[in-house]
Amino acid sequence: MVSAADGGRMAMHRDMAGRKRGRSVTRFAASAARWSIGAARSGARRGLSAVAALPRATMELVFPAACVSCHAELNADEPGARAVPFCGSCYESLDLLHEPTCRRCGGPLPKLNASTQANEGCYRCRGRKMWFDETIAAGLYGGRLRELLLAMKSDKGDPMSLAMGHFLWQLRRERFEALKVDVVVPIPLHWRRRLAHRTNSAAVLAEVLAGRLGVPMASGLLRRRRDTPPQSQLTPPQRWKNVRQAFSMSAGYHLSKAHVLVVDDILTTGATCSEAARTLRMAGAERVTVAVVARAIG
Ligand SMILES: [Zn+2]
Ligand SMILES: [Zn+2]
Repeated sequence: MVSAADGGRMAMHRDMAGRKRGRSVTRFAASAARWSIGAARSGARRGLSAVAALPRATMELVFPAACVSCHAELNADEPGARAVPFCGSCYESLDLLHEPTCRRCGGPLPKLNASTQANEGCYRCRGRKMWFDETIAAGLYGGRLRELLLAMKSDKGDPMSLAMGHFLWQLRRERFEALKVDVVVPIPLHWRRRLAHRTNSAAVLAEVLAGRLGVPMASGLLRRRRDTPPQSQLTPPQRWKNVRQAFSMSAGYHLSKAHVLVVDDILTTGATCSEAARTLRMAGAERVTVAVVARAIG
């Protein structure tokens, strides 16, 4: 159960015809003085008839005609073509994660250690207090995936974030669907950074996943209390300290036994997502799963 009484505009996203055609994502925003997940879902259903088809340009962002990495034309006639936004050679060059992976931190595991993928964590994360339960990642940070993540963070990065959000969904759809999450929450930027950057890759990824899952995306649920220095400039111990108490819940939200999907572009030490998860749990969330495009390991 999630409810908000802030009277703000809550964007709700629904994969309308997606389940039938696999190609469209629809979106509408509803103003609600008070809402709950149950009401939001029925509201979303009511709203579907009023949702117009997406413009063609948006469709092409979601299923681009060209590889998002090298811009080679994608041959729509090839079997399986355009299910992912990459040409064959770029797809091959991505360092995607394959099982076994650690359920908890999302990192790769040696095949011999597959049994440790149960919930207690791996040699990287065991003994570390992480407030989230599970991590879902597309690949390992580095090489071409690193270039794509940098493109997502550039000023015109939203189309890339959109494509990567759909790619993450395509790769991990079964795991996402099995989660039964109630709400999707992106890691928030501090308002100063929101003003400075024209893009917020975590929010775009979260929009895509919420749309595919058919649950609300609550971008205003978590707030950054402080404008913390970028984690990428810090050592691992500094990263944990840097994000301590960095988030707060926005007034009016209440999470009760909710399963929250927290979305970011990359997970390195897990400090940021763990602090976000801690804040959500203190507010009543029962379970927190993290979704990222890339898992960075040292
Ligand atoms: Zn390519
Ligand atoms: Zn682990």
